[in-house]
Amino acid sequence: MIIIVKAKRYFKITNNFLKKRRSSPATVKDTLFGEYLRGTLSYLALGAVFLTLGWLSDRLEAVPGIQLNPWQMDAPLIVVDAGHGGHDGGAVAGGALEKELALKLALDLRGQLLAHGMRVKMTRESDVFLPLEGRAAIANDLQADAFISLHLNTSANPDVSGIETYFTEHKTLAAQRALQARWKLTSSAVKDLRGRWLAASIQQQLCTLTQAVDRGIKERNYAVVTRTQVPAVLVECGFLTHPDEAAKLKQADYQKQLIQGISTGLRHFLQARQNQPGKGIEALSDPALAATQEEAGAETTAP
Ligand SMILES: [Zn+2]
Repeated sequence: MIIIVKAKRYFKITNNFLKKRRSSPATVKDTLFGEYLRGTLSYLALGAVFLTLGWLSDRLEAVPGIQLNPWQMDAPLIVVDAGHGGHDGGAVAGGALEKELALKLALDLRGQLLAHGMRVKMTRESDVFLPLEGRAAIANDLQADAFISLHLNTSANPDVSGIETYFTEHKTLAAQRALQARWKLTSSAVKDLRGRWLAASIQQQLCTLTQAVDRGIKERNYAVVTRTQVPAVLVECGFLTHPDEAAKLKQADYQKQLIQGISTGLRHFLQARQNQPGKGIEALSDPALAATQEEAGAETTAP
């Protein structure tokens, strides 16, 4: 607004001045005055631009911890969750610590999503412990467009390798209540298909790009996917117990492929759902099912 007012005033004054110049022969005095006027107005306009940018940046910082791309306030907001952290190290195998590798991948994913104009909130940015319900709550409080949790897998069998992505259609009772309220459903229970679609899209891109073994998408009541009221997935990016895969997982090029796969899968999911974010939330009429899931969801921890 300030810029527009300043700019209008600038053009008005400059125009009047030029008209005057055209109607009467220019003198040295006129020319010098014109230069002076133009210079002053340019500085004023530039000052207004900086003031506006400062004001905008203050408004963005008012939202704690959210990294916003300032020019796309309505861009998709993604919560990226690095599995484990702090005293919970997760898997230790193949010369890697799950909590560290998950954080590295999560930070890289943030960079990739920001580069695509999305807004990103990390559940953790350093080696700290965070309860699972706290991670889901971040996505719920922000009403994020998606929640992506990153983990690394292990197996007693060192021959097992590949990528798998988890989701659930059956949210906790609390999450179902919130979904009912948000999407104005009258049924006693809801089923949420969005996680399945997001998982399928990410899994397909991941396996195409990395050429890893496709272990498929799987429904499981992990707390971070059952408690979230937004499309949520948990990606197991590979097996630290498989010597070759563990070596690849530590390579920058392979990590880039993983990030690219997740990012592309997410973007395809978001693009397919533009203008219909509630699509995939279906009314159910069986409250017993919801109650069962409440119990299961609350007791299952992330792998
Ligand atoms: Zn894990």
